[in-house]
Amino acid sequence: MMQESVQSLSAAAMLEVWEQGAGRHPLDQALLLLRYACPEQPFEAMCEWSIGQRDAHLLALRRQTIGDRIAAYAECLACRSELEFELSCTTLLASSATSNTTWTTVEQGGRAWELRGPNSRDLALAIAAADPEQARQVLLSRCVRSGAEDAEAAVWARANGAALAGRLSELDPLAEVLIDLRCEVCGQQWQALFDIVTFFWNELQARSRRLLQEVDLLARTYGWTEGEVLRLSDQRRGMYVEMALS
Ligand SMILES: [Zn+2]
Repeated sequence: MMQESVQSLSAAAMLEVWEQGAGRHPLDQALLLLRYACPEQPFEAMCEWSIGQRDAHLLALRRQTIGDRIAAYAECLACRSELEFELSCTTLLASSATSNTTWTTVEQGGRAWELRGPNSRDLALAIAAADPEQARQVLLSRCVRSGAEDAEAAVWARANGAALAGRLSELDPLAEVLIDLRCEVCGQQWQALFDIVTFFWNELQARSRRLLQEVDLLARTYGWTEGEVLRLSDQRRGMYVEMALS
């Protein structure tokens, strides 16, 4: 993993990403974030990172930009109580050690298959499919291959489709992060999906809005331009905002 080479988002970069990605599909928003996080990486290569690799870089970017601690909320499935829980980017990253984009051989239905974790291109094609079954077929056709390319292999692939799709998700543990939750009010236990793309995007949206309010306030108070305000460090900008409001 190359998370060490991830750069944090500056205030100006955050606004650019938010502006360009607003209303786009989360697959595009994730790639847009990666462009800023890893400027030296060719875009084509990032599109071919497995979803687990992509999310590992997004977690590293989130840690660099906002911090390690993630405060999340869920609603109890049984009694609808609100539950607060904490996650750590570092802990989540620790589970990504096994994600990879290379072909791995697994055995399923008495036959050897080669599998690789889906990447952003695979998913872009899958979401364009007419229905979930066709989407699964798209993923299987791109991410699973059998040693022998014959008609018999195609029949086997269809018969083992569900099992092979399950093996694909095992291959890339960070592609689907499930959090164990327990309601303190009624004791209900369940697993919730944590999606770093949606979570981080919502945070960036809230931060961008606040940044623009700060630019507005400081421009009106001191006559500074947007560029000048965005070049201030978070600490300095925060102090000026306090003074402007007092
Ligand atoms: Zn409950």
